[in-house]
Amino acid sequence: ALTIGIVGLPNVGKSTLFNALTRNNVLAANYPFATIEPNVGVVSLPDPRLAKLAEIHGSARILPATVSFVDIAGIVKGASEGEGLGNQFLANIREAEAIAQVIRVFDDPDVIHVDGKVDPRSDMETINTELILADLQTLEKAIPRVEKEVKIKKRDAAQLAAMEAARTVLERGDTIFSSVASDKLDMEHLRELSLLTAKPFIYVFNVDDAVLGNPDRQAELRELVAPADAIFLDAKLEADLVELDEEEAREMLEMNGQEESGLDQLARVGFHTLGLQTYLTAGPKETRAWTIRKGDTAPQAAGVIHSDFQRGFIKAEVVSFDDLVDAGSMAEAKSRGKVRIEGKDYVMADGDVVEFRFNV
Ligand code: GDP
Repeated sequence: ALTIGIVGLPNVGKSTLFNALTRNNVLAANYPFATIEPNVGVVSLPDPRLAKLAEIHGSARILPATVSFVDIAGIVKGASEGEGLGNQFLANIREAEAIAQVIRVFDDPDVIHVDGKVDPRSDMETINTELILADLQTLEKAIPRVEKEVKIKKRDAAQLAAMEAARTVLERGDTIFSSVASDKLDMEHLRELSLLTAKPFIYVFNVDDAVLGNPDRQAELRELVAPADAIFLDAKLEADLVELDEEEAREMLEMNGQEESGLDQLARVGFHTLGLQTYLTAGPKETRAWTIRKGDTAPQAAGVIHSDFQRGFIKAEVVSFDDLVDAGSMAEAKSRGKVRIEGKDYVMADGDVVEFRFNV
């Protein structure tokens, strides 16, 4: 499943953020037959194109793409050694596709900090150290085994070299994700180990309004976690926002000098970090965004709607969102020659508006 695991030290605002995520649960409203796990929060990906498309097609409803977040409780110092929730924690985090780390920046004398003071750098290091130690354990087990297999020529020495390079990165205290480019890590040969720190990281800084309105402080914090993505939100504000209707929520955001809610940012950045994109379908019944990976072909995209669509794929009628909006209607887009017929090798572009033809 394409879920992003939320981790963080105790008292940084994880539950507050996660409550906002689950109360905002779009699955319950839009997909009545979907099972909703108690530890999963689903947010829709903001996409202003959908309303436009629904208008053109007179669609009765709009179904946006979604991003799911799993609450992974229990990281504390020593988690990699089995402290706290230990092994259960590691199993849950292994299943997530990316990791969102909540870091406390807000100051509040009434909320104690586990280490006695608010220090984003030290929090980040505490958590990353646990993940790094868990990965080192994985490598310490794998390396001798691969060494043996290389000796008896059952295995490529390149894989051993990749693992040793990864160990060097971890031993100096860096994550694999942040070192892929700088250390030219051979990810192809590391994939089977499912290393935790090889997952894409997003840093969620839980800040107060002083930092929300302070780009310089945000730039400092961004620097701290680069090249990973960072977002800034106030978890308490997010929890309040989900209680309001759309208009009230917009006013409250404006009052806080924000253009977009933290949950919307989280969905957008998460989507981007996971390497995803959307294509669109539209008709009188609904306008809908479908989630695919960058580089997916037309049959793979059809398979997201139904596996029969992929198996029986014949062709796709494709128009780019911009061309369709320029034309104002499907008929006009067709007469302008903007609707293309694409075959099974077509690589989908973000915002393609598509109708599939298939055999059943
Ligand atoms: P968790 O242990 O990481 O899940 O943290 P919680 O979400 O339970 O938050 C711990 C305490 O901090 C609670 O009393 C929250 O109300 C408070 N808190 C969470 N986010 C914020 C914030 O952005 N600002 C302030 N001042 N307090 C917050």
